[in-house]
Formats: sequence, C-alpha cells, structure tokens
Amino acid sequence: MSERVYNFSPGPSMLPLPVLEKVKAQLPLYAETGMSVMEMSHRSNMYLDIIHDAEARFRALMHIPENYAVLFMHGGATMQFASIPMNLMVKGQADYIDSGNFAHGAAGEAAKYGKVNIVASSREDNYTYIPDWEGKLDADADYLHITTNNTIYGTHFTKLPEGPAPLVADMSSNILGEVYDVNKFGVIYAGAQKNIGPAGLCIMIIRKDLLGHASPICPKLLNWATQADNESMINTPNTFAIYVAGLCMEWLQQQGGVEGIEKVNQEKAALLYDYLDNSKLFKATAQKEFRSIMNVPFITGDKEKDAAFIKFAASKGLVNIKGHRSVGGMRASIYNAMPMEGVQALVAALKEFEAKE
Ligand SMILES: *Cc1c(COP(=O)(O)O)cnc(C)c1O
Repeated sequence: MSERVYNFSPGPSMLPLPVLEKVKAQLPLYAETGMSVMEMSHRSNMYLDIIHDAEARFRALMHIPENYAVLFMHGGATMQFASIPMNLMVKGQADYIDSGNFAHGAAGEAAKYGKVNIVASSREDNYTYIPDWEGKLDADADYLHITTNNTIYGTHFTKLPEGPAPLVADMSSNILGEVYDVNKFGVIYAGAQKNIGPAGLCIMIIRKDLLGHASPICPKLLNWATQADNESMINTPNTFAIYVAGLCMEWLQQQGGVEGIEKVNQEKAALLYDYLDNSKLFKATAQKEFRSIMNVPFITGDKEKDAAFIKFAASKGLVNIKGHRSVGGMRASIYNAMPMEGVQALVAALKEFEAKE
C-alpha cells in the first residue's frame, strides 16, 4: 500500500493524520531546542513543558478535578492489573465484574495479591452483554473493578455501578471517546494505543485519598504515591509517547473535545449498526442494549464468507477488520481517529459484497 488505509485495528490503532504530520515536521528539530524530543533529557525544562502541556490538555478534556492525580505509567494497561491490588487492597479483598477477556485478566492478576470476588460475569455467554451486578456488591471490598468498554466483544457499560467501594475502571478502549464524570471513579486507567497515542504508555487518574496505601511488596515504579510525588519520573518515562499523546489531545480539543467527538462517534456507530441490523448477510454479535460505539464485532455465520469479506475489504484499503478468535468474523474498531468517511467506505463495501452474494 502506497497510500494510507482506513485501519480498523483494535490497537495499536489509527492516529490523526495532522498529528503524524506534526510529528514528522518536528522530528529532527523540536522548536528552538536543536534536537528531537527523543533526544531530550526528561528533566530538561523543554521536556517538562511537553509533559505538563499533555497533562493540562488531558485534565481539560476530561474535566479532571484538582483532587485527582494524573500519572504517566509504563507497561500499558496490563501492568496496572497488578498495581491496582498492590495499591488498594488494604483489607485484602476486591470485587470484579467479569465482562470480557481483559476484565478476566485483571481479576486473575489481582488474585495473586488478595481475595477477588467475581460479583457478576457474562463469560458463560461469551461476553455478549454486561452482567447485572445489582445487589451483589460486597460492603467490605477495597474497590470494585470494571472494564468500561470491552474491546473484543464490543460491549460497554450503559450505567455505572454505585457501591460503597471506590470504582476502578479500565477505560483503555473508550477513554476520550465518550464523556465520563471523573468524580464517579476512584481510579481510571487506560493503555494509550487506542484513543490516546502510541503503545506502551498507560495514563492513570487517581483520587488523591487513594494514594499512600501501597503494600510493602509494591515495586516503586508501580507505587502510585511515589510516582505522583515524582511527577511520573521515578525513572525515565516514555518521553516520545507522552509527546505524541499531547499532540493527540491538542487535536481532540480542536474537534470540540470529548463532547464533540462523542457525537461523531455515536453517528459513526449508528451508521454501521443500522446497516448490520438491516442486512440479510451480516449481523452484529453484541446484545443491542450494551453495544459499544468503539468496537463493532459482526459475523456472517459462515467462516468462508467472513474470510472472503475480509479479503474484499482489504482490497479497498479497509484493513485489520478480522475479528478476535474468540468471537470470529469481523470487528471494526472505530476510535476517535477513524473518520466518518472510513465508516462510510466500510458500509459501502459491506453493501457491495452483500449485493454480489
Ligand atoms: C487493549 C486493552 C488492554 C491491554 O492494553 P496493553 O496496553 O496492551 O496492556 C487492557 N484492557 C483493555 C480494555 C484493552 O482494550
């Protein structure tokens, strides 16, 4: 491919072209510094300006109150599956809602450090819906963990649990794509490669009263209080990813912020689901009530037809549309950087393929 494609990958995913152009322009020589961002000391004033700017834009986009810390962590979202129990399990037990593979993995990791109660699960039904937790939350839990958007199965929480324990949310696949009230959460964390920027980085939002309770075995890089005291710079942070994330946030502000992009995301998802609901060949796999606006899995019910469509789509520059092996078929991930035109092109390809059947 000598031209840019519409990349429906679940992650790493598309970045906005204006961001890539800006990175390219600034690559050998950033502003008046005489060097690239990759070559700067993370403790230099020029780099501190970059990380502070990224944090300020992120705070503005999500309306993060002063009583929350923002951290830039290593190791993606998965690293924090372990840091959560190590920082929050004071009494030694936590509730988890098992709504997908990543939720399941987060619970499995936490179980190494304390008691995990799976209070609700849709695993037996291949995670086609968000399980009901009403009346099942523990009064004694140190926290309740949820995954707001289930990347593989294409479901999302349509309301948030309200229990006595702080709500901890893996928001990797819908952060900055849908409006959330940060005040409802104790901790929000997200791997960057879906809606924030390059992979490897994890952004965290932590209510400050939850800092300072880490277990003695917690590695210092995963100790949220120590990271907060050191402005996420106990060691060298992922300087380049944070810089690109800052540019993506700047781009998002130009799109009307999260409020603005959520409207576009709703329209993109509606266009695709409307087509799928009326198609005789393709159908969406997630239960209607819980459908994600970020990840749209769908199938024909026939593996050969699925494979033929994936090939057909690729020939039109619509790539990475193969579904996860646990659902099969196709999955269109349509995060913030996927333009409406990309979804229109996908729907046109689906129509053309169906007409030939
Ligand atoms: C992608 C994803 C992860 C894993 O992210 P890494 O950065 O690879 O660790 C975790 N949770 C959810 C919901 C995801 O979509």
